[in-house]
Amino acid sequence: MISNDATQNLQFGSDDLAKYTFLPQAGDFIRSQGISISDLASNDYQKVVKRAEQRVLEAIKDAKISQDISDREIEIMSFPVALMLVKSTNLEHVMSRFALAEAIRVEQFLKRERNCKIIEELFKTSLGLELEHNYQNPSLPDFKIPLEEYLRRASEFHKNEWKLVNRLVGEGKVFLIQDDLIRLIREEIRIMIMARLKEIKVSKLPENLQEVVKEIIRAAPPPPQSPYAIIHIAPENYPPCVRKALDMLDKGENVPHYGRFLMATYLLSVGKSVDDIVALFPKAPDFKQNVTRYQVEHLAGLKGGRTRYRVPSCNTLQTHQFCFMDPIKCYQITSPLQYPSRKSPELAKASADKNSKSTRAKSSSTHTKERSKRDWTKTRRR
Ligand code: SF4
Repeated sequence: MISNDATQNLQFGSDDLAKYTFLPQAGDFIRSQGISISDLASNDYQKVVKRAEQRVLEAIKDAKISQDISDREIEIMSFPVALMLVKSTNLEHVMSRFALAEAIRVEQFLKRERNCKIIEELFKTSLGLELEHNYQNPSLPDFKIPLEEYLRRASEFHKNEWKLVNRLVGEGKVFLIQDDLIRLIREEIRIMIMARLKEIKVSKLPENLQEVVKEIIRAAPPPPQSPYAIIHIAPENYPPCVRKALDMLDKGENVPHYGRFLMATYLLSVGKSVDDIVALFPKAPDFKQNVTRYQVEHLAGLKGGRTRYRVPSCNTLQTHQFCFMDPIKCYQITSPLQYPSRKSPELAKASADKNSKSTRAKSSSTHTKERSKRDWTKTRRR
């Protein structure tokens, strides 16, 4: 068990370290125990290895990790072991899934965290973000962050509530309730865990751990089929069709089947998480959190047949009347992932002028007047 002596010198208590296992203080605790990798072969550490394996398997199968911290020592120690296991698979998509699931686990603990000092310290230690707790006025949100820190993060969000004009600002700080604060930095936690995975070097594992790595590789879903590397794209650079779907959702309008399918597959392809995408839907007239989550997870290849769906082509979107072509930037592209076209604007404009009439005619001839009411995940795989 973790002794009082062992935790006395730590900034965080053992409960905190079991919840926030990525903290450097959790690493300090493990180092203080003097455990080496070869020790993990002994029976004394089998529970640690088992929990590490469970963390990884839960992450790759369910995109979440259980939150039982009743055995704090095992919870703390299993995190770096899980990192080693994941790194040893040498599979990029397994690393991504693990980082996302660990970030979601942290997020869930943070949302329930009642100790503001822990939150402040955790943000400072891990993310270099100086938070202030609003002790003076209980009628205002609990936290304040510097304006520039807010703007840097909120630019990734589309919903009106994140626009600065809809936020309470005072003396260069933006007030935030706890849930919004956590939401704002979720992606950073994922990136931080991913960076940790990239930087660790794993020496030869004992035989029992090598067996676990093989088991994880067997259980891992196939890598994403998209031929496009995951790239991060600012929302203002999304193609017009994706921006249209996002605008419609934001206004509470019913986005047709292909608009939803496009939006989810596109955002997954540019590195957004399932949670990020589900969070865009609450204003949809038919929104049901569990159904939406299942559908997005299905498209991401985390549910059902475990096949990741591709972004529909521009042709398909034109056929289904969900193309809002920019004649210059969409010039000669065949997939929204190629937006914007790299052709010179002059050349693009000349050709687009010539072709725009025939493209519009083609789109309108195939227009279906009724919006599709079928389950939008049943779309044929492309
Ligand atoms: S041309 Fe392609 S990327 Fe451009 S709006 Fe149409 S479907 Fe979207």
